[in-house]
Amino acid sequence: MTEIRLYDTMAREKRVFEPGDPGRITIYVCGPTVYNRAHIGNARPAVVFDVLARLLRHVYGPDSVVYAANVTDIEDKIMAAAAAENVPIDVITERYSRFYFDDLAALGVPRPDIVPLATQTIPEMIAMITRLIAAGHAYAAESHVLFDVPSWPDYGKLSKRPMDEMIAGARVEVAPYKRSPADFVLWKPSDETQPGWDSPWGRGRPGWHIECSAMIEAHLGETIDIHGGGLDLIFPHHENEIAQSRCAHGAVPLARYWVHNGFVDMGSEKMSKSVGNIVTVGELLEQGHRGEVLRLALLSAHYRQPLAWTEALVTQSKTVLDRLYRTAGDAPAGEVDGEVIAALGDDLNTPQALARLAAIDDPATVRASAQLMGLLSQTDEQWFRGEGDERVEGLIAARGEAKARRDFAEADRIRDELKSQGIVLEDGAQGTTWRRT
Ligand SMILES: [Zn+2]
Repeated sequence: MTEIRLYDTMAREKRVFEPGDPGRITIYVCGPTVYNRAHIGNARPAVVFDVLARLLRHVYGPDSVVYAANVTDIEDKIMAAAAAENVPIDVITERYSRFYFDDLAALGVPRPDIVPLATQTIPEMIAMITRLIAAGHAYAAESHVLFDVPSWPDYGKLSKRPMDEMIAGARVEVAPYKRSPADFVLWKPSDETQPGWDSPWGRGRPGWHIECSAMIEAHLGETIDIHGGGLDLIFPHHENEIAQSRCAHGAVPLARYWVHNGFVDMGSEKMSKSVGNIVTVGELLEQGHRGEVLRLALLSAHYRQPLAWTEALVTQSKTVLDRLYRTAGDAPAGEVDGEVIAALGDDLNTPQALARLAAIDDPATVRASAQLMGLLSQTDEQWFRGEGDERVEGLIAARGEAKARRDFAEADRIRDELKSQGIVLEDGAQGTTWRRT
């Protein structure tokens, strides 16, 4: 079996991947807070962990992976966006969830196997908070519930920071109800104008961190194989997830491997909303860039390195893909190249895998090897004809993958969504074709 090594943030080194159960490899990646369009940096973890899931399925078998990523659909920024439009929060969260998954489909990223919503996990969160209080790791004060950080001496093991630095780094709010400035919110009160749920501590809503701990427990178990997310989540978010989950579970580890991706930066300018140079996936697609080109661009640097996003990168990625499509022609997928697998198995070294891909002559091998990275999803004719609507093709691919994993509700949702846009799908022996009505 192909050896896979992953850089584990907890160990600060590459480790050979050994799943708890090779028949059920569990992955959890922190997902979006849905109140605006995803920028290209938000798409990076989705693409990176999709490649990892594809690699694991290739090595361990098509049904070996359970991949969960949450959607945060209750949060102060969502409430602010809803207030600005004077609509309920679900108008905001449904709109931006749809955009998010459509954008990802265009990038060749299928919907994860499990997509828990925060608002549908409230009882599990309340149950976990209750257990944390009973175990002496959390306390209620002034309608809030806080995690008692000094009660967990292992706090800080992932980020490896001294406590005083963590307190400064978290810019923690000084509040009279906190016993220690490092304590973080598990539950907070909602007034009558704010969304809220009944709880033993009064009507309120959860803090962000508890959401992931409760979802992982509910859907994947106490210890998962791989926990992923952006580097910026290591502290405080993942540190807090670990504290909550381990204290609720008799100290068993939350994850065997912690995998974090680096940032996307927009050339010389630091990516920030204030300077107006956020580039959303939607804008890039509207500019005519094809989803697969953006995907290849995101995979052009090693996932742990920063990725400088430039026009030149996108143009170069298009050239690389054109060449791969010319090599693959109309050949069906053959065997995956051993060196491509080896490169991906070495901590997901996509630049090396892409370099190897460019050196392969055999059309069937190129197609199979590229598809392991979610590339060359179209025929050369579709690609060069260029009239296939990328977004439609992406959604059809996502529907095909939903059907393959027997998620018929999602497959039907995609078909209905396309239908509402005047696009009819026809399933045949040769796959799915589409036409505009
Ligand atoms: Zn999380």
